[in-house]
Amino acid sequence: MSAQTSGAGRFERVALIGIGLIGSSLARVLRRDSPNTTIVACARRSETLEAVRRLDLADEIGDDPAAAVAGADLVVLATPLSAYAEIGRRIVPALREGAIVTDVGSVKEVVIRDLAPLLPAHVHFVPGHPVAGTEHSGPDSGFAELFRDRWCILTPPSGTAPEAVAKVTVLWEEAGMRVVTMAADHHDKVLAMTSHLPHLIAYTIVSTATDLEDSLKSEVIAFSAGGFRDFTRIAASDPVMWRDIFLANREAVLEMLQRFSEDLTALQRAIRWGEADTLEERFARTRAIRRSIIEAKQA
Ligand code: NAP
Repeated sequence: MSAQTSGAGRFERVALIGIGLIGSSLARVLRRDSPNTTIVACARRSETLEAVRRLDLADEIGDDPAAAVAGADLVVLATPLSAYAEIGRRIVPALREGAIVTDVGSVKEVVIRDLAPLLPAHVHFVPGHPVAGTEHSGPDSGFAELFRDRWCILTPPSGTAPEAVAKVTVLWEEAGMRVVTMAADHHDKVLAMTSHLPHLIAYTIVSTATDLEDSLKSEVIAFSAGGFRDFTRIAASDPVMWRDIFLANREAVLEMLQRFSEDLTALQRAIRWGEADTLEERFARTRAIRRSIIEAKQA
């Protein structure tokens, strides 16, 4: 079977710019399903490049993004968002005619703002976000099954060639994802609620606990059953990646945070005034949402 006809192997040469949790998981999918595809990995630090070599995740490895994208028919940006603009400037002169440039960033309007003006007309731009992850980072933490049964959201700017969108769709479908296309600003609003706000709350709760006086803090850690422990897992996520997400999706996060604070104030009031019915009704509604997430197999 030729590289052109075998699923993810429709791509002959894939350049992964950034090969941490997400980039290395995609490399593992390509290694598993598309042995004819040449994988080129690019990162900055020698430890990262050494890990990629040890794990045999790529055929070619280097720290120069321009060299990495030369000749690639698919370029995947998988670094923190704040690195995109600089990487974009460096790779543009080296992009092959007809190449598809995609990414995995967790915020989408800013990616289009930073990259679209730089890209020449002869390449296709299909921004994407595989909504799958863990709190771990780096190439050792990746695994091919990361994407299975999760959603991937593509946000191609209007006028993007449908064939390019179709090829990126197939790539993620073969990684096990369900793929949907939506406008970038809509993506950013949805993710502000489903992902960014929960991370902000987790970071806040864990730092509130960290600021407690020592005796209380040690007990919080010792008895961190259920609730708090789950928040510590989320709050262990990569600080640079999350710094970039909040700054890149500022407006949507602030809007959701405003709504959240109003709801929190309402609950605070219900507790203060002993409004049992209000509390029970609110908790019954949220329990139903949990059930629907389980039914949608996203738990
Ligand atoms: P990660 O594990 O920390 O890996 C980041 C990679 O980018 C590393 O290979 C790193 O190389 C490279 N890198 C960092 N800064 C760079 C720079 N300035 N120039 C060039 N390369 C640079 O990160 P990740 O979790 O895979 O996240 C990558 C992207 O995926 C982010 O944009 C994030 O928003 C998105 N995303 C993450 C998740 C998640 O749950 N983690 C889920 C969906 C989408 P060095 O090690 O050499 O610095």
